[in-house]
Amino acid sequence: MRRSPRLWRSLEQVTGLLAVPAMWEAQCGEDFSFVRPFLRATEMVGSRYPCPNRFGECPRKIVDYGNGEFAALCRDPYKSCRPIPLGTREALLHDLDLAGFLQPILQAASIRAEAPKPRGSGVWSLGLSGRRSSQHQPVFLVIAHSASDFESAVCDLLLEVPGQFVMLVPTNRYRSVETQERIQARGIQYLCLGDLMFVDEEGRFAVADSEESVEVATATPALDRKRVVKEFRRRYNCKVADIQRAAGVYETDYYGWLYGKAPDHYAHCIRIERVLRRGLPKPDHHNFS
Ligand SMILES: [Zn+2]
Repeated sequence: MRRSPRLWRSLEQVTGLLAVPAMWEAQCGEDFSFVRPFLRATEMVGSRYPCPNRFGECPRKIVDYGNGEFAALCRDPYKSCRPIPLGTREALLHDLDLAGFLQPILQAASIRAEAPKPRGSGVWSLGLSGRRSSQHQPVFLVIAHSASDFESAVCDLLLEVPGQFVMLVPTNRYRSVETQERIQARGIQYLCLGDLMFVDEEGRFAVADSEESVEVATATPALDRKRVVKEFRRRYNCKVADIQRAAGVYETDYYGWLYGKAPDHYAHCIRIERVLRRGLPKPDHHNFS
């Protein structure tokens, strides 16, 4: 089992998920094999080609000689790296077939994939969560290329999606106090692929410790609690007393939580939230009397 940090970073580093294949390879490094089968040639010729030198004006620029002949030329004033002749395919920008690329990843993460639908810049809806802590919630992927992209994508999602949802991101690099506060206030589940996913010996994606590695912003906002309870009761066809019993809390404690009178980190509040997230135990596991 190993992590694949370069793979996740590459998604945020390749702007617009659009680059020549050599650029994708340079970004992904040893993880390029996960991306290569899903690269699709576009009709646009790229402008940049990777270069071993990290100084000056490099990476190389791509020039078009016509008749399908291209070359990557060093931008450094001293031309420290040699020109590389390129064929058409090598010079064309390639984008990523997200549906194909994400399929094994979403499957490992227990997300029921639908065809990814773009909703605004760098945001896709991916399907519904089959994870215990977020059953049936919609899952959105956010791929940002800058901190401000990330912030506006998060704000848009929080505005447009009324209930709870799962937000999937490749890395944690654009997480900030501001966005974190907003995400937590809504009890949104935040999954970072870099933290969540491993690659096993056979090169397949696997989830680290299933739900343990998942960060759950636990508390339901106080104003949303009545609605959440109502939905829960409808889903499980149960009474408020069943929730209290499953959480092992007194009626007074339950109402203290419901009306937001007890702090969220109190044990009884955490237990109630846990029941609401995970659902009621199956009847044959009923141990309460
Ligand atoms: Zn160069």
